[in-house]
Amino acid sequence: MTTLPIIEYPNDILTSPTKKIREVTTELTGLIDQMVATMRAVDGLGLAAPQVGHTIRLTVIEYRPDKGENKRAAIPLLVLINPKIISRSSEEEIGEEGCLSLPGIELDVARSLRIKVRAETTTGEQIQFRATGLLARIIQHEVDHLDGKLIIDYAPRRDALIKQYLATRDK
Ligand code: ZN
Repeated sequence: MTTLPIIEYPNDILTSPTKKIREVTTELTGLIDQMVATMRAVDGLGLAAPQVGHTIRLTVIEYRPDKGENKRAAIPLLVLINPKIISRSSEEEIGEEGCLSLPGIELDVARSLRIKVRAETTTGEQIQFRATGLLARIIQHEVDHLDGKLIIDYAPRRDALIKQYLATRDK
């Protein structure tokens, strides 16, 4: 399986509006397979379509802990088409996040502890589920991508952080 190059900030695709997916075509399932392969190749916990150049509402999520790590934290592969967070707890938790599109940056981000999600599957089924903890955090991060939002947007000193990030990339 070929992997896809990951688009890094700054690139307009990462902040562009994304389109709702109307139909699961063979082209789309091909893209999903490539996104899963890409996410696994770089050890990511999630990947959103804009990060590989597609401005559509699609994300893949998975967490496979290594041996010795807490296996109970594992998240089986989730492919979410047109995901929507329909409710979120006001209770938040601060956790460190990184992003494949912002290499080198790690930031504390406050996320809702519990969310309710609606999405479509590759078989066209509509699903609704609750998520907590790490999964809730990953889903909120990925849905942000579909809304053109990145973790740097949560940084208290955003402009300074971007300047610093761009400076290290120029080297
Ligand atoms: Zn990200």
